[in-house]
Amino acid sequence: MYFHLVGYFNTSAPANQADADIAALIGEANETFLTKGAPAGKGAKILNFRIEDQKIHIEIESDRYVRAHDAILRFKKPLAALLGKKYRIGIRGIEIESFVVKFPSNDPVKSTKIPYVSNIEFDGQEITVEMEINESQIQNRIPDRIITLIEDKIAMQGYGGKEEHWNLLWESEQKQVLCTEDPTAELLKESWIKHGAARGQWIYGPEITRLFRAFESIVVKEVLEFLGYREMIFPKLVPWSVWERSGHAKGVYPEIYYVCPPKTRDPDFWEEVSDYYKVTHEVPLDLIEQKIDKPIGGLCYAQCPPFWHFLQGTTIADDTFPARVFDRSGTSHRYESGGIHGIERVDEFHRIEIVWMGTPEQVVEESERIQERYKYIFEEILELTWRKAWVTPWFMAQEGLTGTAGRKSVGTIDYESFMPYRDGWLEFQNVSVNGDKYPTGFGVKSQSGSELWSGCSGVGLERWASALLAQKGLDPDNWSPAFRRIVGELPRGFKFL
Ligand code: ATP
Ligand code: ZN
Ligand code: MG
Repeated sequence: MYFHLVGYFNTSAPANQADADIAALIGEANETFLTKGAPAGKGAKILNFRIEDQKIHIEIESDRYVRAHDAILRFKKPLAALLGKKYRIGIRGIEIESFVVKFPSNDPVKSTKIPYVSNIEFDGQEITVEMEINESQIQNRIPDRIITLIEDKIAMQGYGGKEEHWNLLWESEQKQVLCTEDPTAELLKESWIKHGAARGQWIYGPEITRLFRAFESIVVKEVLEFLGYREMIFPKLVPWSVWERSGHAKGVYPEIYYVCPPKTRDPDFWEEVSDYYKVTHEVPLDLIEQKIDKPIGGLCYAQCPPFWHFLQGTTIADDTFPARVFDRSGTSHRYESGGIHGIERVDEFHRIEIVWMGTPEQVVEESERIQERYKYIFEEILELTWRKAWVTPWFMAQEGLTGTAGRKSVGTIDYESFMPYRDGWLEFQNVSVNGDKYPTGFGVKSQSGSELWSGCSGVGLERWASALLAQKGLDPDNWSPAFRRIVGELPRGFKFL
């Protein structure tokens, strides 16, 4: 890695008479603090300097050990001390005229719009990045973040897009296949569901709603009450500040439904919109666009992030741990790709989100307990053909990362059910140990000061229904006796002529 920086210090007066002292300071700097901490022969080097009016120009070159932009900051303090004490000259700030970074790469980066980057070139072996930065960007570590970003992008191009890590952990026995139809097609045929008016949205009739409630009651009894969870209500409109802390701000943009408030709730301001509609019977979208503000965030995406605002910046009493809560108070929304399929992949879905936290040991142990309970449900109550796999943690995937988390106990287990009609598998829920990601992101501490971890698990009701109905069909006679007892008699639905 090679850094080259040309810039200058603005001084309160011409510093010509300090010429010899500055030269001596540079000589010393190159031998001491610009190479401090770097292996022998490495670090930054000030190549030359030139005094011109009220500017001291310098040129710095470095490797990755003491990066040139850090070197100019390191040099500012002793230079200010020298000029101030002996010459009564102050330093007004640093300006950067040219800043170039080069690093080896086998591939070019396919990005053109990176902030502060004016040019990127690739010569087959090396990437050259030119940046337009100033002192405050250096202080905010922008150059380092740009380099990391470009390196991540190149690594990701190498993975070939969204290829995820997948390792089978456990597979159930193959249960009897009682249905080979697409469950969504069957549900439509029987009028248990109808398309909602919005994209990727369904209206669930009485029969399948009973099924959803039966799933919920199983999770409540067999997992949540069994393990001592307490119900909470999490917000469903998520502002940017939450996604900044949860990490979703790094990559969630293509999949969220954005929320824009009105610029004002003054009826006079909106009157022309109502009038336009009353006259034309058309909603004036262009006019509305002018009258709404920028998005303040989006609709619930991953369900647990807004909960963490409840704990943000707090210290929690040790006897609270392991803390166990869940939310089932509303819908989640994702702008899915063309991959919307029936009720399996929808833009509006229903999910129970389970969250726990405590010491790393408690959190890992809890994940195991929850897995035991799920196994009991899928084996003894629903009698599904299912499997579970160790995958790229959802929080990494949702930030656009691949691979697995560094630590073996941190990560995501996906649960998948066999879908006979397409001879494939459907992820229907997951269990994640998120490590210290959320407590750190939201500044949450434990009383004892020991490491705080958390985990979460999302139970998708559409996915559970798809799993069960794909394997067993809509006829309750094909469902297990245990599940039939829980569902009871299905309510009468609608008949259409
Ligand atoms: P997929 O790979 O199928 O898109 P995902 O990895 O995006 O799933 P997660 O972000 O892990 O899913 O969400 C947790 C759970 O939320 C899923 O296991 C599933 O039950 C549910 N879920 C997520 N996206 C959808 C969707 N579009 N429709 C229905 N349920 C969903
Ligand atoms: Zn979660
Ligand atoms: Mg998804």
